[in-house]
Amino acid sequence: MELIKTDGVILKRTYVGEKDAIIKILTSGAGLVSASVKGVKNMKSKLAAGSQVFGYSDFVLRPGKELFVVTQSAQKEGFFGLSSNIERLSFASYFAELTAAFHPGAEDAKAILPLLLNTLYLLSNSSKNMELIKCVFELRLLCYLGFAPELDACTVCGDTEKLCFFSPSAGGTVCRGCGALADACIITENTLAAMRYAQNSDDKKAFSFALSKSAIDEFAQCTEKMCEQVFSRPLPSLAYLKQITGKL
Ligand SMILES: [Zn+2]
Repeated sequence: MELIKTDGVILKRTYVGEKDAIIKILTSGAGLVSASVKGVKNMKSKLAAGSQVFGYSDFVLRPGKELFVVTQSAQKEGFFGLSSNIERLSFASYFAELTAAFHPGAEDAKAILPLLLNTLYLLSNSSKNMELIKCVFELRLLCYLGFAPELDACTVCGDTEKLCFFSPSAGGTVCRGCGALADACIITENTLAAMRYAQNSDDKKAFSFALSKSAIDEFAQCTEKMCEQVFSRPLPSLAYLKQITGKL
């Protein structure tokens, strides 16, 4: 069968037996794929550098019976700043698990890959607030996958004034008069403005703003609960991240 040449970010790596590994890659050419990397634990393996988790690499993949097989890999970016800090690493693990949980196909992956690369770059190389990076990543991921929240009108009555609540189950903002929904959380003007900015800017500008801690907490409550709503199951990496950041 024909070989696939593609770039991609490795979301997960699981060792199999004594020498091999299976990696889950978000590729620009084939969506989310699982691939076997033979002999990767061998010190002399040419595939080792390009098979690091969270690394961005070029791959040549051969379709196999159940999995692809990596025949060539070359790392383009290692995001080495992640591995030196358990907090950064925990955020990266959550971003990777969240991305994989959506099972993005080829079209979705093309849009999500630049978002994931920007996110990992900021996490690895900047001092930007990691909770804020998480908020923007969650929001934009939801948007790319067709779950964009309504942020300009009340999701119950359609009113565009006094939008002071957010309801994950209703899929967006709720006005003061309709705020009795069980899962509606309070959202201030600043937070709503930040969410609109993050939702409507292009990929590179989406992260370029600062926010107070209380507004980040509001933003996080909205996007995290909306992600949970979409999956209807908890992600282990999120529980671990909350342990690490003391948010449990
Ligand atoms: Zn309303």
